[in-house]
Amino acid sequence: MKVYKFGGASVRNADGVRNLRKIIDDEQHLFIIVSAMGKTTNALERVFAGVQQGNREAALGEVAALRSYHAEIIDDLWHGHRQLERVDALFDELERVAAETVYRPEEAELRYDEIVAYGELVSTTIISEYLNHAGVANRWIDMRRCLLTEQRHKDAGVDIEASAPRLRAALAGCGETIFVGQGFIGGAPDGTTTTLGREGSDYSAAVVANILDAESMSVWKDVDGILNADPKIFPDAVQIAELNYLDTIELAYSGAQIIHPKTIKPLQNKNIPLYVRPFGDKRKPGTVIRAMSAPVDVPILILKKDQVLLTLRSRDFSFVLEEKFATIFSLLERFRIKANLIHNSAVNLSLCVDRSWHIDEAVGALRGAGFDVMRSDNMELLTVRGYTDELWRRYACGPQVFIRQATQSTVRVVRKRG
Ligand code: ASP
Ligand code: MG
Repeated sequence: MKVYKFGGASVRNADGVRNLRKIIDDEQHLFIIVSAMGKTTNALERVFAGVQQGNREAALGEVAALRSYHAEIIDDLWHGHRQLERVDALFDELERVAAETVYRPEEAELRYDEIVAYGELVSTTIISEYLNHAGVANRWIDMRRCLLTEQRHKDAGVDIEASAPRLRAALAGCGETIFVGQGFIGGAPDGTTTTLGREGSDYSAAVVANILDAESMSVWKDVDGILNADPKIFPDAVQIAELNYLDTIELAYSGAQIIHPKTIKPLQNKNIPLYVRPFGDKRKPGTVIRAMSAPVDVPILILKKDQVLLTLRSRDFSFVLEEKFATIFSLLERFRIKANLIHNSAVNLSLCVDRSWHIDEAVGALRGAGFDVMRSDNMELLTVRGYTDELWRRYACGPQVFIRQATQSTVRVVRKRG
């Protein structure tokens, strides 16, 4: 069995879906994980925002736009007007949720998951029906019933051991050897739908690969492979041929948007290679990630945007702030805030964190717990692995740099957005 994952950009229109069909053409035993089409998840986040703000009209407007976006793709795929009952039923359900949900703030994450999950439910339904129509017999798999997650919404982890028998049972007992399942979603012990964090479809695919002991996993993307930097930000980006699992985790953690950070562990545990390959050209080699790889011989630059720098000081002037670390980090955990860089002195603790939903509440709670908190918005975190003198001068110096942390090979810089 192989696992193929197709991201939203690769299936954003009918040509993309036809290309997917071409890519899988000669495969016999395949589990296909698909994300929501194009920018559907962003649109669904706006549906949720409408529900949250009690703006029913806005929420329903977004649903209507999504319905017609998908209808167009369906008509194009079937070369003429075509109604897919199961897709209609999903949009009817979503419309009911958007119109009838009575929003309560303590259910924010639950409602978010309920709504955004429709993107993947719809995309996989269309693709599975299209593949059957095009002669590729396959089975649609409901990942809400196969991947059992923690009882936690919006970025749930999967319980792989408990999910294994469910997934295997869903594949058993039928003729098909090609399966189509949703990325990004699962089900909590209480039966509600959960999501695995934005861009979480990679992680879904890795979990499936782990459970099914896949020979490999491939992520088909709209780039040639993994580059050493984002070419939109750093002009001389080059492709990396091979990476090992650990370096990949480091890169993903630093903010390289190559692969969801949770993807590597399930693959590493079973020693399954991960290929990142260009959707547009199956013949190109892409990048391979596995246990052993040739050393990377170019510097790697990763920019993590949307950061906030918090500097904490204890109000009772206690000099040993370390004693308070437990309080601080459990507060952050409560508000689901990840510290991407930590820098401490005797009296100060600086934390570079994601600008998340709950940042205002978290700052309030830290102040309530006896800390003075200085907050700087509009920050970014730049990581340069394998820096040279020139890169150091260019990126690690200057008035916009607030914090710099360096080892012999890596420098990380918290800086004001340029
Ligand atoms: N559709 C989800 C997102 O856009 C999950 C994914 O693409 O991996 O975040
Ligand atoms: Mg996506």
